[in-house]
Amino acid sequence: MKKKDLKALDSLWTASQKIVITSHYNPDGDAVGSSLGLFHYLKAKGHEVFVVLPNEFPDFLAWMPGSNDILFATRDKETALQKLKAATVIFSLDYNAPSRTEHMKEALLDNSALKVLIDHHREPEDFADAILWDVEASSTCELIYRFINHYGDTDFIDQNIAACLYAGIMTDTGSFKYASTSPQTHKIAARLMETGIEASEIHSMVFDTNSYSRMQLLGRALENLQVIPAFQTAYTQLTKAELEEFNFVKGDTEGFVNYGLALKGVHFSVIFIENQQEPYIKISFRSKGDFDVNTFARKYFNGGGHQNAAGGKSMKNMTETIEDFKKALQEYAS
Ligand code: 5GP
Ligand code: MN
Repeated sequence: MKKKDLKALDSLWTASQKIVITSHYNPDGDAVGSSLGLFHYLKAKGHEVFVVLPNEFPDFLAWMPGSNDILFATRDKETALQKLKAATVIFSLDYNAPSRTEHMKEALLDNSALKVLIDHHREPEDFADAILWDVEASSTCELIYRFINHYGDTDFIDQNIAACLYAGIMTDTGSFKYASTSPQTHKIAARLMETGIEASEIHSMVFDTNSYSRMQLLGRALENLQVIPAFQTAYTQLTKAELEEFNFVKGDTEGFVNYGLALKGVHFSVIFIENQQEPYIKISFRSKGDFDVNTFARKYFNGGGHQNAAGGKSMKNMTETIEDFKKALQEYAS
């Protein structure tokens, strides 16, 4: 990728812009938090701003200030496309390739707006005119803080912005425990807390609002957990029937994959989840230390992400997918 920075934006900020902020399909805490944090900031700077997401976010993020204003391309297709078309600037947050927006990809690329990428995933595609990209950043929310700071505007960070950014940093770092958590991450979190937000309340709203059925589904995922000691690997699976049995709703399986890493000696954990609508298996990969799941997901499961957290897909059935996975493990290790 050509070396780019935020310079292409410099001439824009003197006039009011029509801005659309986008993020990836199945938006998580960092995707929604960074989008809304930037949304509040750019609005305060006098721009017309819309957040357009490919599909809906899980319920545990619905408390975020501004979340009622988000447009979803699945639900409000016409309006979403029209806002994208009218935009003078489009932000791509928390994704490294337009295909990560799924059905929004064409509307995003076939567009004359100035494109800005703010992201921390590996190997970004070259589609943006301005870039703030750092794989070392804990989260895109951390980068939004840096973006605001770049313009000398940290005084603009009110409790709305702070709550959104804090939640995204908190979720992407597993509550500040992943290796991506740096001194800088803690410094930024501290500055956000200094606005007076209740960090502990934010943690509760995100993590302590489980339904009983979700806890039962977690129980099933733990029962299904298998360990392959030779590869220090744990994997589990949830079929469509199991999701139905526990009244699955979007977001319910978020974080399940991490439990495998809590086993002594395990440094690679995987979950296979059958999609309810379409015939594919969604795979999540997590690791500790040097094992690079981004490379593994790219090589074998048409996916990607970060060194210690990545995703992918298999078009085969569950049994075949797990067989493929075991073969891939053998091959990758040799
Ligand atoms: P998750 O397992 O939570 O879906 O994703 C873990 C990380 O990998 C996230 O940062 C996500 O953006 C990224 N990711 C998930 N699925 C894919 C995929 O299919 N392709 C790419 N490039 N990244 C993915
Ligand atoms: Mn992220």
